[in-house]
Amino acid sequence: MYVCGPTTYHYFHIGNARMLVVFDMIRRYLLYKGNEVQFVQNFTDVDDKIIQRAQEAGKDAHDLGQQFIQEYFEDAKALNILPATVHPKATEHVEDMIGIIQGLIAKGLAYQLDGDVYYAVTKFPAYGKLSGRNLEDLQAGARVEIDERKKNPMDFALWKKAKPGEPFWDSPWGAGRPGWHIECTAMSLKYLGPGFDIHGGGADLIFPHHENEIAQTEGYLDGQTFACYWMHNAFLTVQQEKMSKSLGNFFTVREILEHFSGEVIRFYLLGTHYRSPLDFDSEKLTMAQKALERLQTSVRLADEVLQKAENLTAENSPESRILSDAAQVAKADFEKAMDDDFNSSLACAVLFNLAKVINTSLQNEAEATTGLTAARAVLQELGAVLGFDLEHSALATDNDENSQRLDEVMAILLQVRGRIRQKKDWELADLIRDSLKDAGIVIEDTPQGARWKISREGGRA
Ligand code: AMP
Ligand code: ZN
Repeated sequence: MYVCGPTTYHYFHIGNARMLVVFDMIRRYLLYKGNEVQFVQNFTDVDDKIIQRAQEAGKDAHDLGQQFIQEYFEDAKALNILPATVHPKATEHVEDMIGIIQGLIAKGLAYQLDGDVYYAVTKFPAYGKLSGRNLEDLQAGARVEIDERKKNPMDFALWKKAKPGEPFWDSPWGAGRPGWHIECTAMSLKYLGPGFDIHGGGADLIFPHHENEIAQTEGYLDGQTFACYWMHNAFLTVQQEKMSKSLGNFFTVREILEHFSGEVIRFYLLGTHYRSPLDFDSEKLTMAQKALERLQTSVRLADEVLQKAENLTAENSPESRILSDAAQVAKADFEKAMDDDFNSSLACAVLFNLAKVINTSLQNEAEATTGLTAARAVLQELGAVLGFDLEHSALATDNDENSQRLDEVMAILLQVRGRIRQKKDWELADLIRDSLKDAGIVIEDTPQGARWKISREGGRA
């Protein structure tokens, strides 16, 4: 798979995150089905916007690009996005791009103009095949300010002559830098070769970016197929308008992480099929948090029952069979949903159905049966296919290490409080509960023992 990654001049926003989470989900499902996946995702670390941003901030354009590559990895980790097999950077592949541009000129598909190089779209008869557009219509719609020197208004830059103060590389056409589209041709051919399986990105890339990538690559390869399947996620919008850095209507993942964990953001994004538009709504994030907590609670409560039991009992009980049947059905339904164009939204609904069967069984004072073990295992396994860790709470917005430590400390504290209650020192037990409440941690005493959660309403949390 090759996925067009971010332009690194800013923290990525939740619209970019939709693309990242969607293709990570697709990759994870392909892995679950037993495929080997080579996943290439580039960084566009040289570009007009990076240069402009660096100039405004009085920074070096290259340093700015590298800084936001580092920031990318931090936020991607919070969203539980697997690192790509390769994360090639445009700035490290300029030589490869120059080689391809030379090949295109030699084939008569590109031409030089005072230090710039353009692709001649009329020389590629299939131009428009991905987006369903044709050259005549495109030309008719082209804007007047188009560079007069070009042979056709739709011809696009492969190489741009250096302007003063901009980063540049030496080339056969003089100092300059590559155009945007050529980087994906160079990097996908280098790491995957021609005819790879899936090429992905957001729907905004269909035209002109992916159309131009096809013209370059298939032109360069004398008509060989570039990518077998093209997949595009729909936009994340704000009041029906595409969220984008240039419009300024965006929320960065970094900002949202102050209020919600990365896993909750991920859950929210996967709750809608990737080809359906999704309008940003922070209340839906709160709902996603509650929904994810429900799944995590099911796993935790099942664990409490299973961990207490010395061995599994009532293996052939009707209750056990209900659970193991539900586990089997869930697995089949989950795969059916995902096999139908990666319907993660339906796949999430399958997880809820299974969690409901587990919860009903637990309410009936479930015993530790093989059925419960199976249902709990399938719930956790399928959750992980979508990139969710159902064994831990999604509430913590802190780093993983701290939340793990909190889990451990709370387990100790609840054990001590349990002993105090056994000794019927209610006053001390209540003091612990009330003090924790003031600190934003709520304790609930249940027949299965005490549980805790972080309260969003009261306390300091
Ligand atoms: P950019 O940093 O703008 O080059 O975008 C990086 C990736 O995010 C590309 O694959 C875009 O198609 C995708 N993308 C950008 N904005 C959105 C959005 N609002 N919704 C979904 N995907 C987006
Ligand atoms: Zn690309």
